[in-house]
Amino acid sequence: MSSQYSRKSAPQRAVVEIIKTGEWSKVQYIHKLECGHTEIRKRAASTKKIACLECVKAGIAESILTNLSRPAIVDPPIEEAWIDDIAEGVAQTEQDIGMIRAGIASVLSISPETIDVVIEDDEGGVRLSYVMVYLDSDTARRIAFPNQEIFDI
Ligand SMILES: [Zn+2]
Repeated sequence: MSSQYSRKSAPQRAVVEIIKTGEWSKVQYIHKLECGHTEIRKRAASTKKIACLECVKAGIAESILTNLSRPAIVDPPIEEAWIDDIAEGVAQTEQDIGMIRAGIASVLSISPETIDVVIEDDEGGVRLSYVMVYLDSDTARRIAFPNQEIFDI
């Protein structure tokens, strides 16, 4: 049931302002939208418009109010369904990023911490944008000159 409340069904709203908050590694981006709602995401949106979940929630609340004349049982509670939906999406993205990191780290024999996976918002979801790999000089030399043990540059 929660799938019908996915971001894909949410209306696109223009981003008015993006505010970066939180400490390093816990950074959040507060997106102020034209509709007056805010969307908090782990990464800044690269598109001018993003889906507004609050607008959908408001719409659902409104339709429930309009239908109050007839008995309605709302189960599971909308709020929880939403949180589950979003948390699931974030967890899936984090898992994907972890696997990309681990795979590249293993091929290059480097630490996963030196790999930055950058994703961007796509229509109703996220997609891989690019990956940055930081190599210290020893590692760079090891990869560039795999057959040389000792050298001076
Ligand atoms: Zn909105």
